[in-house]
This record gives sequence, structure tokens and C-alpha cells, in this order.
Amino acid sequence: MSETGGDALTVTGLKRSFRQGEVVIEVLRGVDLHVGAGEIVALLGPSGSGKSTMLQAVGLLEGGFEGSIRIAGEEAAKLDNDGRTRVRREALGFVYQFHHLLPDFSAAENVVLPQLIHGTARPAAEARATSLLGALGLGHRLTHRPAQLSGGEQQRVAVARALANAPKLVLADEPTGNLDEATADVVLAEFLRLVRGEGSAALVATHNERLAAKMDRVVRLHEGRLG
Ligand code: ADP
Ligand code: MG
Repeated sequence: MSETGGDALTVTGLKRSFRQGEVVIEVLRGVDLHVGAGEIVALLGPSGSGKSTMLQAVGLLEGGFEGSIRIAGEEAAKLDNDGRTRVRREALGFVYQFHHLLPDFSAAENVVLPQLIHGTARPAAEARATSLLGALGLGHRLTHRPAQLSGGEQQRVAVARALANAPKLVLADEPTGNLDEATADVVLAEFLRLVRGEGSAALVATHNERLAAKMDRVVRLHEGRLG
């Protein structure tokens, strides 16, 4: 990565609208956001306020937006597909509401595979997977497949996978939204502890004020802007 400074993310003037039939809805109307290195920011807003749209843009998963997105010091919004893939792989980690683990692979392999794609040798990748999963209390679940794990365990594996390549920035979209409240609290606490321990920054979309309050800073998406 060409990164030299400390910033994880700087978004400037991010705009995104969707055409729904004859109507154009402006979901993001000029969003500005800065996330420092290692900072954990909650992106709070009610359902439909544009949180997922924003994370998809910052995650370089969708085009069709205007504005600047600097990730780890690199202007990423205007990159071609190969450049976007490179930035995603080198600098970003993703956690979603549903775990999206590969069903035919063990918990450990789900954390190993993204590292192999990244160019890490298998022994080192396996050691890191064991270490990350162990830190999440899953040392006894390494060879289990996703279907053999509880919802909270599946989501912990997804967290370990997101951190596998030591991303500068983790993008998490309602990461505990599919869990019951007690499990959500525990998994979120573990997620925050691990992200802090790894020194990654995170942008965590949630509609839950109580969970948002556990993060370093809260930004609110309202009428297409951050307040
Ligand atoms: P949130 O994640 O905060 O619940 P979303 O970003 O999913 O909100 O959606 C924000 C608004 O954008 C909603 O009104 C939604 O219908 C609209 N929207 C999102 N994606 C699309 C799409 N691909 N096509 C049309 N409208 C969309
Ligand atoms: Mg959403």
C-alpha cells in the first residue's frame, strides 16, 4: 500500500441517488467523514437512511456515486476494477449481518483462504487463523464447518476472516444484527476488543443507539448527510 500517513478513511462530498421508477431518490447528499488510524466509528441511522449504501461505496463494491473516497491515503473512488480489488484486498475487511462463510470449508479454512489469496504462505496463514479464532474463544471450533456452529460463533468466524489480512479499515454492516441481544452484546464486545488489539480502524453501521455508544465516536446519517 502507498500509505504513509495515519488516516484510515477520508470521504468527501459522497453522493448517491437511485432511480425508482419515475422517481429519483437522493440517498447520500454530500457525506463527509474522516476516520483516523485505529479509530472505531459508529455509523448510526434508522433503517433506510443509507448506511448500507454508504458502506458499499466506501467498500468499493458499487459504482454510481460522486465524491472522493481516500482509503489508507489512496484515492480509491476513481480506480478501475483491478485497482478497486487491490485496495479491497490490501486495506479493507468486511463483516455483514449474515456471516457469508464458505459452507464447505472449516472455520479455520474460512480465515486461511483470504490470506492465501493475499499471497501469505499457508503455514503463516494457518498460524494467524488459529491465533485470531483463539482470541475469539473459538480455539475448539477450528475444524467445524459453519453449519456446525451457533450464530454467535459463525459471526465470530466472520470477524476473524475480516481481520485476516490485517486491514487498515474494517467495514461492518449491522455485524450483530442477526443475533439475539445478549449474544450481540458479547460478539460486539469481542469484535471491538479484537479490532482495537489489531490496531485496525472500523466503520460500523448500526441502527442501535446502545451498541453505537460502545464505539469511539458516533456519526449520524440524517437526510443524506452526517450530523
Ligand atoms: P440502511 O442500510 O440505512 O437501512 P440502505 O442504504 O439500504 O439503508 O437504503 C437507503 C435507501 O436507498 C432506501 O430508500 C433504499 O430503498 C434505497 N436503495 C438502496 N439500494 C438501492 C438500489 N440498488 N436501488 C434502488 N434503491 C436503493
Ligand atoms: Mg442496511
